[in-house]
Amino acid sequence: MPDRTKPPATETLTGVSAAPGFAVGKVHLLDGPRQYQIKERSLESHEVAGEVRRLRKAMRQARDELSAICNGIDSPPDDPGLQLLTAHRMILEDRSLLNTIVETIKSDRVSADGVVHRVFTEYISRMENSDGEYFRARGEDMRDVLRRILGQLLELDAQAVKSIPKDAILVAPELSPSESACLDPRRILGIATDHGGPTNHAAIMARSRGIPAVLGLGNITARVREGDTILLDGNHGRVQLRPGPAELKAFRKLQEEERRMRVSLGRLARLPSHTKDLQRIPLLANIEVPDDADLALSEGAEGIGLYRTEFFYSRRAGWPTEEEQFRAYRRVVRKMRNRPVVIRSMDVGGDKFAMASGIGRESNPFLGMRGIRFSLAHPEIFRTQLRAILRAAALGNVRILLPMVSSLDEVREAKRLLGTVRRELEREGVPIRALPIGVMVEIPSMVVLSDLLSREVDFLSIGSNDLIQYTLAADRGNENVAHIYNPFHPAILRSIYQTVESGHRAGISVSSCGEMSGDPLAVLLLLGLGVDQLSVSPSRLKPVKQIIRSVTIRDVRHIVEDALTCATTLELRELLTRSFPAAAELVWPDVPDDSEPAEPAS
Ligand code: PEP
Ligand code: MG
Repeated sequence: MPDRTKPPATETLTGVSAAPGFAVGKVHLLDGPRQYQIKERSLESHEVAGEVRRLRKAMRQARDELSAICNGIDSPPDDPGLQLLTAHRMILEDRSLLNTIVETIKSDRVSADGVVHRVFTEYISRMENSDGEYFRARGEDMRDVLRRILGQLLELDAQAVKSIPKDAILVAPELSPSESACLDPRRILGIATDHGGPTNHAAIMARSRGIPAVLGLGNITARVREGDTILLDGNHGRVQLRPGPAELKAFRKLQEEERRMRVSLGRLARLPSHTKDLQRIPLLANIEVPDDADLALSEGAEGIGLYRTEFFYSRRAGWPTEEEQFRAYRRVVRKMRNRPVVIRSMDVGGDKFAMASGIGRESNPFLGMRGIRFSLAHPEIFRTQLRAILRAAALGNVRILLPMVSSLDEVREAKRLLGTVRRELEREGVPIRALPIGVMVEIPSMVVLSDLLSREVDFLSIGSNDLIQYTLAADRGNENVAHIYNPFHPAILRSIYQTVESGHRAGISVSSCGEMSGDPLAVLLLLGLGVDQLSVSPSRLKPVKQIIRSVTIRDVRHIVEDALTCATTLELRELLTRSFPAAAELVWPDVPDDSEPAEPAS
C-alpha cells in the first residue's frame, strides 16, 4: 500500500495518449468502494421470472468475480485475506439466503436490488447488534458481499462515473465500457488510468466526447490522493502530479495556445472536404449514442460513418425492445436529415460486454463470441435489431454494417436473415426502403478474401482498430504491447491496399472508420491507398479535414507507391515523415509512435 500520510513531491508519469487536449484539475479517485442508491421498483407479474433470473445471474457473476480474485492471489491457503474472500464466496453460495431473496421477490413483487438490500440489511443489523466481536465482523462481511451483488445488479461502475464532482480529473485503475459510456464532458476535465491503450473503448469515448485522456500510466492510482492537483497532457501522454507554481503557469500557457489553435480550426467545419486538386473525400463521424450526432453535425460531419450500437446494449440489464431501438436509430436519422447513417449491428463481446448477453467470462474474449458471431447465435435478438434498423431506414439514408465477420458464410447468413425480416415487415405493411449492406474488414481472413467478399456486399469499411490487433496479434488495449500494435506496420499497409483494390475492382466503395483515420500521417496514407471516405471521432473532423485540404491526391498516391516497398514500420515512418514533414510534426495522440515508445510508468 502507498504511504498516504505525507504528500509526496511533484512527479511526472508517462502513459499512452488517448484523447488530445490539456487539463488542470483536482484528482477524483475511482478506486474506492463505489456508491449506490437503491430504488425499489414494483414488478408486474410477468416480470417476476425475469427478475429472478437477473438476480441469479448477478449472484453468479459476483461469485465468479470473487473466484477470479482468489485465483489471482499468490498466498498460502491459510492467508487471512484469502480466508476472508473464501468466506464471502460461501455467503454467495448459501442456498437458504438465495431462497429467501427469491421468495421475497415472488411474494412482494419488488425488484431484485430492493429485496437484496432489504434482506441483507436485516441480517447485518441482527449481527451488528449481537454481543461479541465474531458476529459484528460477520456483519461487515455481509456488507461487503451486499456491495458486490449490488455492483452487478446496478452497474455501480457506471453510477460511480455519474456521481463525480464537477471539474475533476478522473483517476482510476481502468474504465469499463459501461463506465466509459457515462463519461460526461460537462463534469470531467480529464481522465488518467493505470491500464488501457489508445483504441480501447475508454479512449474512443474520451475522444468522441472531447475529454483529454492519458491511459496506461502503470500505477497512478497508488501515487495520487483525492484532491491532489494534476496537469494532464493528452497530446503527449503525460501527467504531472502536484506541480509547483511555475509549472502550473507554464502549463496554463500551453493550454491557452491549444485553445487558440482550436478556435483557428473553427471555420473548417463549414468548408468542403477535398484535396488541393479537388478530389472529394467525404468525411463522416463515428458515434456511440444518438446525442453524439449533434456534436458530429456542429463539427461538420457529412454523415455518420459508424454508429456503434452496442453502447446502447451495455447500459442495461435486459435486451432493448424493437421500439426502443427504432426510436434511438430514428433520432439519429432525423438529426442527419438525408445524410448517410451507417448503423453497425451489435458488436457485443470482446471488450464490449452486454450485461444481458449471458456470454459469461471467456478466457480469450477478443477471439470469442463477439459481433456477428453473437448475432447469428442469437437470431431472435438479431432479428429484433434488424427490424428496428429496417424501419428506421425508411426515414432516411441508412446502411447496415456487419462487425467481426470472419467468413462469407456469416455474410450470407446475415443477408438471409435480413431478407426474412424484410419480407416479414412487408407483409405487415411497414414501409421499407433498400438497405445497402456492408462488412467491416477487421479480421485478416476478410482481407485475404476481399475480392470474393466485394462481390457479395454493397460497401466495405476497414476497421483498423481490430485489423491491427488481429493481424499483429497485439491486444488493442494492452499497454505492454502498445509498441507492437502499430498502423504503420507494412502488413497493415498491404492489407488496406489489397482491400481497396478488391473493392474498387468490384465497383464498390471502401471507407475507413478505425482510429487510424484520425491520425495525420495515417490519413495521408489512407488517401494515397485510394480509400473513398473516412469516418472519425467528431473531435477529429476538423483536424482531419485540414490535412485532406493540405495535399494533392497525386502527391499522396506517388508516396504510397514507395511506401508499399517498405519492409519495416520504421522505414515506412521515415518515408512518411520525410515526405510530409508538416503533418508529421502535428501531435495527435491516438496512434502509438514507434519512434518514441511510451515509457511504462515506474
Ligand atoms: C475497428 O475495429 O476499427 C472499429 C472501428 O470498430 P471497434 O473499435 O468498435 O471495434
Ligand atoms: Mg472493430
